[in-house]
This record gives sequence, C-alpha cells and structure tokens, in this order.
Amino acid sequence: MMNLKEMFQLSDRGASDLKKGIFACTLTNLSLMLSVVVTVQIFLEILKPLTGEDVSWNKMWMLFGAGVIAVVLHFFCCKNDYRKTYVSCYTAAEDSRIRIAELVRKFPMSVFNDKDLTELTTNMMGDCASIEHSLSHIVPPLMANAISCTLICICVMIFDWRMGLSIFCTLPLSFLIIFGSRKIQERGSRKQTEAKLKASEEEQEYLDGIRIIKSCHLDGEKFSQLNDALKVLKKQSIHMELGTSVFISAAQFVLQAGIGITVYVGVHLLTGGSITILPLLLSLVIVCRMYGPILTILTLLPMLFHTLVSTRRMRDLAGIPIMEGRTDVPFPDYTITFDHVDFAYNKEPVLKDVNTVIPEGRITALVGPSGSGKSTMSRLIARFWDVERGTVAIGGVDVKTLDPEYLMGMMSFAFQDVTLFGDTVWNNIKIGNPNATDEQVLAAAESACCNEFVKRLPDGYQTLLGENGSTLSGGERQRISIARALLKDAPVILLDEATASLDPENEVLIQSAISHLIQGKTVLVIAHRLRTIADADQILVLDNGEIIETGTHEQLMAQDGLYRRLYQIQAKSLEWAV
Ligand code: ADP
Repeated sequence: MMNLKEMFQLSDRGASDLKKGIFACTLTNLSLMLSVVVTVQIFLEILKPLTGEDVSWNKMWMLFGAGVIAVVLHFFCCKNDYRKTYVSCYTAAEDSRIRIAELVRKFPMSVFNDKDLTELTTNMMGDCASIEHSLSHIVPPLMANAISCTLICICVMIFDWRMGLSIFCTLPLSFLIIFGSRKIQERGSRKQTEAKLKASEEEQEYLDGIRIIKSCHLDGEKFSQLNDALKVLKKQSIHMELGTSVFISAAQFVLQAGIGITVYVGVHLLTGGSITILPLLLSLVIVCRMYGPILTILTLLPMLFHTLVSTRRMRDLAGIPIMEGRTDVPFPDYTITFDHVDFAYNKEPVLKDVNTVIPEGRITALVGPSGSGKSTMSRLIARFWDVERGTVAIGGVDVKTLDPEYLMGMMSFAFQDVTLFGDTVWNNIKIGNPNATDEQVLAAAESACCNEFVKRLPDGYQTLLGENGSTLSGGERQRISIARALLKDAPVILLDEATASLDPENEVLIQSAISHLIQGKTVLVIAHRLRTIADADQILVLDNGEIIETGTHEQLMAQDGLYRRLYQIQAKSLEWAV
C-alpha cells in the first residue's frame, strides 16, 4: 500500500503536515459527536416520564452547560483544523510545485522533445492544482470521517450489536459500488484529462499564431479546430461527471436504505421485548447523524480517484532521470574537443564521427547548409543533450560528467531566439549576473550598444517589457542578450548569428557589441552570413553531420570546396540585393 507521501509526491514536511491536518480534522469530527452525546442525554432525560421517572432539572442544567462547552470545544477544534488543514496543506502544495519546477530544470532536453510543452505545462499547473485541492479539501476530511466513523461504529456495536448491525449493514455494499466502479471512473477522468490537454494545445496554438492566422485568413479553419477540441472537452466532462455521479447516487441510495432497516429491526426488537424505547430512539438519532459523514466519504472517494490520475502522471514525471554530475571539477583550460562524436535526436543520425578542436581564446566559426548540425554541436557543448558515442570535453573534462548548471556557469549564450522576461530592461540584463553592481550593469549595457535604444524607452532601463519583450525589435532583443552575456563574463561563448537580415545600423551595433563580448574568450559562432566571419581564427564546414573542411577563410577559399561555393552564392545574392 502506497503511503500518502509517495501518493501525492510530497516532501517530508508536506507528508507530516498532511498527517497533522488529518488528525485535526478527526478531532473536529469527534468534537461534533460530543454535542450528539449531550443531545442524546437530554433526550433520555426528557423522556423519563415515559418510564414513570421524574425529569432532573439539575441534570438538565448540567447537560445544557456541557452543550455550551461542546460548542466552544468544537469552535477551537475548527480553528485548529483550519490552521492545520488549509495552511499546512497549501504549504505542502507549494513545496510540491517548487519541487516539480526544480525537477523540470534538471530534465535533459530530450524530455522536452518527447513531451509536448503544453503537456508539461498542464502537468505542472493542472495536476498541481488538482493535488492542492485534494490535499486541502479531500484527503483530510475523507480520512478524518473514516477514522471517526470507525470509532463511532465500534461504540455503537458495544452499546447494542443488533442495532449496530442494522445501522451499518448497508455500508459494505455502498463501498463495493464505489470501489467496484473505480476503473470506469478513472477511465472517465483520463479521457477528460486528455481532452483538456488537447483543448489547451489548440488554445495555445490559436493564440500563439494569431498574427499568421489573421494574415493568412485561417480564422475559420483554426477556430473550428479549437471549437471541436472544446466540444470534445465538454462531452468528456459531462461523461465523466455522469459516470461518477451515477455510482455515487447508487451508493448513497443503498446506504440510506439502512434507515429503513434500522427502523424495521428496532421496532421488531421493541415489540419482541428485546429492547426498550430508549435504545431504539438513540439508534435513530445515531443513524441520522452518522450517515452524513459516510455520505461525505462516498462523495469524496470518487474525487480522490480523479486526483489519483493526476498524481500518477506526476509520479511518472518525477521518475524521469535527471541530468546530474560533478560541480567541483576545475578546468585546466577552456579548449573544447569533439572526439569521435555520434549523435541522433531520434533514430536519424545528425552528427557522424565528428572530431575537432575549438582552441581556447580563439574564434571558431561553424558554417554549413541549414540542417547540417551546427546548432546541434553547440547544444552538445552545453550538455543540452548527451552524446551517444565519443566525447565532448572542455579542458579535457568530459561534459557528460558535469552538473549541467555548473557547466552552464562556464558559458554565455547569445542566440537569435532571445528569451526576455516580463520585467524591466535592467533586470533582464542583470539576470546575466545577479550579483553585479549597478556600474557593471551599465557598463555591460553600454558595451552591448543598448544605451541608444533604452534612452528612447519611456522609463529608460526601468521600462517594463511586454511578455518576452514583444515591444522590442529583433536587433534590440539581441543586444540585451549580449549585454547579459557580457555581464556574466563566462570564458566560453556560444553565439548564434541572426539569420534574419537586420538593418545596416542594427547590424553595425550588434557587431560592435559582439566584438566587446568575445575578447579573449573561447568562441564558437554559428555563422549564417559568411562575410562576417572572414576574420575567424578557424572555420569548420559542416555538411550533413560531418566536418568536411577546416581552415581559415583564405585557406578555404583557396580550395574548391563547399565553403567557397557557399561564399560565392552569398556574394551573388548580396549583389542582387544591392
Ligand atoms: P543547423 O543548425 O545546421 O541548421 P541543426 O543542428 O539545428 O542544424 O539540425 C540538424 C538536424 O537535426 C536537422 O535535420 C534537424 O531537423 C534535426 N533537429 C534539430 N533539432 C531537433 C530536435 N530538437 N529534435 C529532432 N530533430 C532535430
């Protein structure tokens, strides 16, 4: 039997908090039973004239006082319950969310390849929300009701086992209905979750591509895809609710048949002289009071089954092996070597027996046709993926043995698809080195030629950028990413030159920013425009995953190879552009 910690992917603190929440909830339930006991006692006292005895008013006042104490006690139990259940359960849920986010950070990039990003987002947001709800609203009351009902059941059995049996005889059958239909309920939940995923995917695609959709008049087609996904979601949600509530209603109906059975058995025993009227009345009070919490259990159980679908997916996510490694390896130098490297994303080989050295403190350019494997080489250096055969090493240290975050500390990236956060320009630059002083941030921004456009922004460096910096031009975004990299001052720089042609002014500014960035560093630049890398110390020409030429611009131009052909094609296209 899986424990609560594993079931809900909780931290140690979360599991212990949840247990405290369950205990507090049980106390609240039992404190409620105190008022039932007092009510029954008052009942017995009032009915004394039936057996020819007198009502004791002293006892009645005492019972009244006990009732007030029971209410006060119940109030304090509720207060404690609220603090323990909600505060600690939401804290446990918060821990879970943070743990999942940390886990995702350590996933190999191949996970993001296999799993849709929407699926991951839904996993994190939807499943966390569903677990949060069950930790606060389902598990504690469910467990507490189960514990208090069992205790009360034992007491009733001791009081009069025949009445006890008649009260609880329908219980096993009603639970059998709920547990027996679990597979059907879970199937409904799974289908609904799949439909939710599909609908989120469609919604995201629709919103992300809204510009293209409008410009290409795809409104009708794309909207109908989204509409269809939402219709399926509606259908699956209704099926899921129906599939669950049918069984809940049936179980509740069966359980409540117990009231009739209790009355029948009670009256039968009373007329047979086996019991007096008082135990009968007491049993009727208990049957009415007890069925409430049991009905709650019958309703909460299917909700728990629904949540278990989410927790199972969460467990699968937590089971994905993360990338780990050493964090204490010193690098004697920052020369990067590829030694007999083979790599494939799926089955199709992308890099084939790559052998090369990217020397320290020099600029190495990677050129080749689109899809030849240039970006893949830079991703392998940063250990976004692990190679299948051969080694990628920095200063002789195999990157496979290093913790990805430690490795990342050695590198700065300036890619063309820059990610900017919905924060100020200043903070977007400071991400490069959160400990940098204001002077260092300003100097980096200046060297990266950001000053010129930041001055035009309404609040300068304190201007808030829209989501992913959508208010800035491509060149401006790239300059912010270069400022970030400058601030980080890492010894290895991986650059991906922009493919889209920038206006001449922007291009000059970016070139100037880059020249500041790469001074004295080990640089690998993925070049798309060959004239910009004519001064590189070394040029590697990749074709179809293999390095087919290596040399300086002059050496490669002297050969009649791919580099020369690519260079001539680009020179021609430049003439056309002019
Ligand atoms: P380049 O940078 O030279 O244009 P890439 O290294 O990006 O080439 O890609 C090399 C090959 O790997 C291409 O055929 C591309 O389709 C494939 N590829 C790139 N990224 C992925 C990925 N994440 N998953 C699967 N295949 C990929």
